[in-house]
Amino acid sequence: MGYKQTSLQRFRLKRALQTLSSKEGRGTELVSLYVPPGRQISEVVAMLKQEYGTASNIKSTTTRKNVQDAITKTSQRLKMFKKVPENGLVIFCGAIPQNGPGSERIETYVLTPPEPIKIYLYRCDSRFHTEHLEELLKERETFGILALDSSAATYASLYGRRLEIIKEITSGIPGKHRAGGQSAARFQRLRQAKVQEFYKRVAEHANEIFLQLPDLKGIIIAGPGPTKLDFEKGDYLQYTLKDKIVATIDTSYVGEEGIKEVVERAPEILRNIRYVEEKRIVQAFLYEVGHDTGLATYGEEEVRRSLQAGAVKTLLLSEALDVVRVTVKCTACGYARQENIKSRTRLAFEQDLIDKPCPKCTAPALQIAEEQDLIDDLVELAEQAGSDVEVISAENEEGVMLKKSFGGIAAILRFKPSS
Ligand SMILES: [Zn+2]
Repeated sequence: MGYKQTSLQRFRLKRALQTLSSKEGRGTELVSLYVPPGRQISEVVAMLKQEYGTASNIKSTTTRKNVQDAITKTSQRLKMFKKVPENGLVIFCGAIPQNGPGSERIETYVLTPPEPIKIYLYRCDSRFHTEHLEELLKERETFGILALDSSAATYASLYGRRLEIIKEITSGIPGKHRAGGQSAARFQRLRQAKVQEFYKRVAEHANEIFLQLPDLKGIIIAGPGPTKLDFEKGDYLQYTLKDKIVATIDTSYVGEEGIKEVVERAPEILRNIRYVEEKRIVQAFLYEVGHDTGLATYGEEEVRRSLQAGAVKTLLLSEALDVVRVTVKCTACGYARQENIKSRTRLAFEQDLIDKPCPKCTAPALQIAEEQDLIDDLVELAEQAGSDVEVISAENEEGVMLKKSFGGIAAILRFKPSS
């Protein structure tokens, strides 16, 4: 089965995991809990209660307290759910040192995975066990593979790393060299007719096999020599399938060997497919910019305004966008302002605030009252407006251009905003 993850879901999970996997406990006191769909909340709560009891044997007072606090917090969060969500539930909870020893604060993270998890796990360790979620970031889409030359055709499906050879047919067409006594022209004519008949048969089976694959992301056509290209160019495949061809790959072999060659190169092929997708999205944006159609906009303020007006069809965000939107508030007079800062300068920014006087009442009482990742902030607006969101990697030319020339924030519009 294939579950379709959007570029946004993948990005969110990827970033959450980056943050979580970098966290370290003071000792063995960080709780990781994976609850698959179908489990009873009460059953998991009972298990945690038992773990709480077991933890009372921990000798170190601090560790014991931190572990038991983490278990209590985890249990509380769990009880906020009436039932386990359809994809399951993952909770990470524990005392994380904020600024040197003795500065631990309990942090809790609740994640609902983008596709169902199967594992049921409770761990208490010096780190969060994120690896079972990292699994979900691997490519999980279903691809159909057709390897062919004029002698045979093999059909397979690829889901993640799982390959299934579905069918193999042979053409029965003799080689390119004629037997004696036949004219060369006649031999070629007959052979060509047979090849075309074979293509038709190949297509019939392809229509039958590939249309039945759930959530088919694309079809890869492979094989040695030019046969695959002739087949692709000819109108043999049903148009819905023809539209799904995402790659044509040269292989040394046909048959199962040819399919295996494709699978070995699958990571590179899939990366390339996403690359092409991203390229298409950014190019569509550049087209509107270049033709001055008024249907493109970029820069945070412009895009924010268009989102609020409900004018955005597709929101393009660079994965490299590393900005936090903070609300700075004065605890003395209530003065507040919003500011964008780079994520990695956040700590220094907070330290700086300590000595700064409030611009309104001059009290040294400025604090970060709220903070939100700029991407999350814009995505929220997009969700309210029903806009598509595409998170574009910075691993290719188009992605770099989106970041460098357009500040990493751009949009294709549904309609021209009235000005
Ligand atoms: Zn003030």
